[in-house]
Amino acid sequence: EADRALVADLLRAVPDFPKPGIRFWDLTTVLADARGLAATTRLLGASLADGPADVVVGIEARGFLLGAAVAQELGLGIVPVRKQGKLPAVAASRSYELEYGSATLELPAGVLEPGARALLVDDVLATGGTAEAACGLVEESGATVASLAVVLELPELDGRGRLAGRPLHTVLQR
Ligand code: IMP
Repeated sequence: EADRALVADLLRAVPDFPKPGIRFWDLTTVLADARGLAATTRLLGASLADGPADVVVGIEARGFLLGAAVAQELGLGIVPVRKQGKLPAVAASRSYELEYGSATLELPAGVLEPGARALLVDDVLATGGTAEAACGLVEESGATVASLAVVLELPELDGRGRLAGRPLHTVLQR
């Protein structure tokens, strides 16, 4: 609980970003703080209480920072889910709708073993489109989602509802 309080304390809300009327939750202040990063890493790693994982999957881009720390903490490797066009060899690709337009995420080829239990990590769960696409990529490759761990859930947007019962662990809700 001290860890959670510290993270809550370090988290910053920035008004009117990326456009007027939107409140952006900014984790740079959490990650830049040594105790904040350690606390966040412990809390995300603890999401595995339900069952073990074989590998961490980090979602671009803040999921890379958090995911690598969690993987190191748990003694696991990390696989990046990247935005379209960044990976030289792609195993699977998924598009999803954004408020304006769409986005595509890709999973690298040859790194996620079929049957592997993956711990997915990202910073914020908003509408859930990103997380749902990442889960779909993992499952399409024959791996399973052991848990999806995010620092912050915005319950108003019901991202949880889009995850179709996949285990979700959130450090904070706002
Ligand atoms: P979703 O697909 O609507 O759930 O949006 C989640 C993705 O957008 C995540 O990868 C987040 O990094 C990013 N995101 C959405 N809202 C915020 C925010 O307030 N702060 C930081 N990232 C956000």
